[in-house]
Amino acid sequence: MNAQQLSEFLHGSARRIHLIGVAGSGMSGIAALLLALGHRVSGSDKVDTAEVKRLQTLGLDFRTPHRASDIEGAELVIHSSAIRAGNPTYDAARTAGTPLVRRAEALAALISGKKGILVCGMHGKTTVSAMTAHVLRSAGVHPSHYVGAEIPILGTNARWDAGGELFVAEGDESDGTIVQYHPEHSIVLNIEPEHLDHYHDLAAIDAAFTQLLHQTAGKIVYCSDDEGARRVCGPFANAVSYGKTGHYIMRDFRAAEFGSTFTFCRGGEALATVVLNVPGEHNATNACAVLALAAELGLDVGVCAKAMESFRGARRRFETLFASPDYLLVDDYGHHPTEIAAVVRAARDTGRRRVVLLFQPHRYTRTQALQEEFGRALALADAAVVTDVYPASEEPISGVSGQLLVDAAQRSGAKDVHYESVRGAAGRCAGQMLRPGDLLVTLGAGNIHEQGAALAEDLRVLEVLRAAMGSGVARLYEPMAKHTTMRVGGPAQFWLEPETEVGFCELVRVAHAEGVPLIVVGRGSNLIVRDGGLRGAVVRLRLGVFGEFVVEGERIRAGVGVRLKALSGGAITAGLGGFEWMEGIPGDVGGCLRMNAGAMGVEAFDQVERLRYADREGNILEKTPSELEVNYRSIPLLRANYALSVVFRGELSTPAGVEQRTKDYAAKRKSSQPAGASAGCIFRNPDGAKAGQLIDSAGLKNSCIGRARVSDRHANFIVNEGGASASDVLALVEEVRAGVLARHGVRLENEVQVIGEELPAA
Ligand SMILES: Cc1cc2nc3c(=O)[nH]c(=O)nc-3n(C[C@H](O)[C@H](O)[C@H](O)COP(=O)(O)OP(=O)(O)OC[C@H]3O[C@@H](n4cnc5c(N)ncnc54)[C@H](O)[C@@H]3O)c2cc1C
Repeated sequence: MNAQQLSEFLHGSARRIHLIGVAGSGMSGIAALLLALGHRVSGSDKVDTAEVKRLQTLGLDFRTPHRASDIEGAELVIHSSAIRAGNPTYDAARTAGTPLVRRAEALAALISGKKGILVCGMHGKTTVSAMTAHVLRSAGVHPSHYVGAEIPILGTNARWDAGGELFVAEGDESDGTIVQYHPEHSIVLNIEPEHLDHYHDLAAIDAAFTQLLHQTAGKIVYCSDDEGARRVCGPFANAVSYGKTGHYIMRDFRAAEFGSTFTFCRGGEALATVVLNVPGEHNATNACAVLALAAELGLDVGVCAKAMESFRGARRRFETLFASPDYLLVDDYGHHPTEIAAVVRAARDTGRRRVVLLFQPHRYTRTQALQEEFGRALALADAAVVTDVYPASEEPISGVSGQLLVDAAQRSGAKDVHYESVRGAAGRCAGQMLRPGDLLVTLGAGNIHEQGAALAEDLRVLEVLRAAMGSGVARLYEPMAKHTTMRVGGPAQFWLEPETEVGFCELVRVAHAEGVPLIVVGRGSNLIVRDGGLRGAVVRLRLGVFGEFVVEGERIRAGVGVRLKALSGGAITAGLGGFEWMEGIPGDVGGCLRMNAGAMGVEAFDQVERLRYADREGNILEKTPSELEVNYRSIPLLRANYALSVVFRGELSTPAGVEQRTKDYAAKRKSSQPAGASAGCIFRNPDGAKAGQLIDSAGLKNSCIGRARVSDRHANFIVNEGGASASDVLALVEEVRAGVLARHGVRLENEVQVIGEELPAA
C-alpha cells in the first residue's frame, strides 16, 4: 500500500485495523485517531496501561499477549518500530499478506487528511507540539493533535477534531520515518548528532530533515539559536526564524522557580508579554516557536501569548514529583547531553541550593557515541548518580555501562558523581545524598521515573515525620553499616534523630497514624542489620535531652543516648561506684536497658531505680524494677515500648578507687575479647555452659565466610575483617549453630538481635 492508498484507506469508510504494540504512547495515539475516524480497531501488547483501558471504553478490542490469531479479519496491520520479525502477530500478518505499515506511515497518512503542522527536532518536540495544540485550541481553531506523551492539559495524547483543518503532530526522527510526512508547516527545533544507531552520520540526519522541508508546503519555523536548524532550514525561502536573533525574538527573559517571563517581538516590535509556567530558558524559546507559527498563521498573538500562561508541561518534562521548602524532586525525560544541560540550567533557575541528578542512560549506542558530551553535561550538576543503561530494544555493547559516563564526568571535573548499576540502589544513593535545600532530578527516557515516584513518596513521609518531631536530624536511606559496630547493614528508609521527648512522642504517634513501622536503635553494638536494610522509621535518641546525664548524690539520671563509657567516666569523676562494668561495653544507655546488659557479675537492672519510657501511642510513663519483668539480657517491656531515661543508683566511693576498678575490668576485657568490628557475644550462654567454649571445642574458632570470621580470641565473637556483608555474618552464625548442635547436641540461641530485610533477588 503506497502513501496515497493508505491515506484513502484511512480517510475512507470504516475498516478493520489491528495495531501491534498498542500500549505504547505513540501507538495508543494512533488507535485513538482511528477510533475517532470510525474504524473497527483491535490492538495487542504485552502490557496493559491506563490509556489502553480508556481506549477500550471507546471501542478498542484489546488482546494480550500477542497472538497470531489477532490479525484474523484485519484489513491493515500497523506496528511500532519496536515490533520486529519474531513477534507472532507480525509474522502472521506477513505470512497472510495483510498490508503492514509502520506507525509513522500511518500517522503521515492520517495527517494528510488535514493541514499538518509537524514539530520536529532532537529535543523539545513533545513539549512544543503540546504547546502548539494547546495554544491553537485556545485561539479557537480546533486543531487535531498527536503527541508522543501523556499531556494532562490536552486530556489525551491524540485527538481527532472534525471541526478544524489543522493537525499538530510530533514527528519522530529516530528511525528515519520523518521523510514520510508532507506537512503544511514544519517547526524545526534543533538538529544535532542523535540516533546514530540509525543514521550513519550528521550528514544523513541533515538529508532526512532536508527532504522533509522540501515536502513542507507552507512555512518552516526554525530556531536560529541552534546551529543545526540554521544550517538545514536557513536556505529555504519559506523559512522564518525565532530565538535570540531572527524574525521573531525573545527579549528580557526572566526566570522564576517554575517558569519565566519574556517579551515576544517581531523585529523591533514587541508583540506580547509572555508568562510561562514551565521552567527554563529552553521552554521560553520553545514558546517562541509556537508564537512565531501563530503569527505566521495570522492568529491573534496576544490571545496566543495569554494561552501560554495556562500551559502545563507534558508528563516527565520537568514534572514536579515532590516539593517542600526543604526538597524539590522533579522528573524529566531528558536523555541526550543537550537535554541534560538544559534541565540543569532550568534546575538552577529554581534557586535551590544544589542540583543532584539521578540519571539512567538510554540505549547503549547513544551512551557509547556521546560519552564525553554526557560527561560534560553531568558535570554541570553539583552531584550525580548514574545507573545502568536502559536498553530500549538494543542488545548490550560490551564495555558500555553507566560507569563510562561517570568516568567521562570525572574527566570533565565532576567530583561528586557515582555509578550504581542497580536502579533501586542508585535511587537510594541519590536519596542519601540529599540535604535540605536540594533539588533532585530523575532523568532519562527509560523507567527511572519509577524510582522518582518512590523517592517522592519517601520524601513526603520523611517530611511528615520530620514535621512531627520538630528539631533534629531527618534523612533518607541512611546506611545502617554506619550505625552498627559490626559495620554491616543496608539502609534505613527514614533515619530520624529527635532532640526532645515531646518531639519523639509526636513522631511515634504520627508514624503510627501513617502506618510507618518505627524502631529505636542505640549504638548498634548488639545488632546485625540485614543487607536489605530497614523499612520504616529508624530512630536514634542521642541528641538534645537524650544525650544528657547528671550525678545527684548516689544516683545518676541519664538519657538513653548517653554512652555507657561516658557514664562510667562520669561515675569516676563523681567517685560513685557500681558503674565500673559499663566501661568496655560499646553501647548507649537505651540499648543497655533493653538488653539488660551486664558484665563482671552485674547487670543493668541491678542498679535501675526508675525507668522512664514512651508507649506506642506516644504516652510517657515511669516504672520501678519491681513493676517490671526483668530477664537475663532482656527487658520484655522494652520490646514494644521505648526507653527515654533512667535513674541508676550507685554507691559512694572515692574517684581513685572507682578508677582503679574500672581499669582492672578494662584490662580483663582487653585480654579476653577481640578488638575488631563485632556485635559482642553472638549467642546466649546456654544453661550451665559457656557458648564460647562450646564453639571452641566444636573446632569452629577461626572459621570464616567471606570477610566474617569466628574470633580466635573469643569464639562467641564474629569479627568483620573489613568488607563483610550481613549475609556473610549470618551465614557464619548458622554454620556455627549447626556445628555446635552436631558436636554437642546443644542449640545455641542468639543474644545478638537480627533485624531488617534480605536484599531483593537481583
Ligand atoms: C565488643 C563488644 C563487647 C560487648 N560486651 C558486652 C558485655 O560485656 N555485656 C553485655 O551485656 N553486652 C555486651 N555487648 C553487647 C552490647 O554492647 C550491649 O547489648 C549494649 O547494651 C547494646 O547497646 P546499644 O546502644 O548498642 O544497643 P543496640 O545494639 O543499638 O540495640 C539493642 C536493642 O535495644 C533496642 N533499643 C535501643 N535503644 C532502645 C530504647 N531507647 N528503647 C527501647 N529499645 C531500645 C534496639 O532496638 C535493639 O533491639 C558487647 C558488644 C560489643 C560489640
